[in-house]
Amino acid sequence: MKFCSECAHPVALAIPEGDNRPRYVCPHCNTIHYQNPKMVIGSIPVWEQDGKVQVLLCRRAIEPRYGYWTLPAGFMENEETTGQAAVRETEEEAGANVELGKLFTLLNVAHVHQVHMFYLARLLDLDFEPGIESLEAKLFTEAEIPWDELAFPTIRTTLELFFADRIKLREGGSYGFHSRDINRPMLAPREPD
Ligand code: ZN
Repeated sequence: MKFCSECAHPVALAIPEGDNRPRYVCPHCNTIHYQNPKMVIGSIPVWEQDGKVQVLLCRRAIEPRYGYWTLPAGFMENEETTGQAAVRETEEEAGANVELGKLFTLLNVAHVHQVHMFYLARLLDLDFEPGIESLEAKLFTEAEIPWDELAFPTIRTTLELFFADRIKLREGGSYGFHSRDINRPMLAPREPD
């Protein structure tokens, strides 16, 4: 941050009185510009038929991680709930109609100042199509998941937890709620074709 969003004066980093960490402070209008983590909200769209379970993934048409596969997800907007954000992102990125289920993962990605949350979701039909931020939208069984081409560590973690819970489901259990701190780095960028 270089300039105050209130008065356009250059800001300075300083620890405000009574605080314990540096903030961008405006010496002109005295506004303290707090910066806090961003919420990334998504869904796990599931299609289940004849005992076969498939998950809808999107291939990213935007940076970062262009060409990599992701669950539909994105930054939460002001004045929406986490559930509304999950449904909106699923519609925007995969053109998919879903019925939202339980919150499944809450993932702290502290080193990039983000919290990621994924909801279970049931696909209501197969009329999905990639949105403008996606190259493809496609259903995958567990065996088909492109594990080496997933966009972000939180996608991998959420899918791993999902298929682990599917095993519990077959044994009469139910989906859990999973909270994790994500420290693993992103995969190295793929070699150019
Ligand atoms: Zn100012």
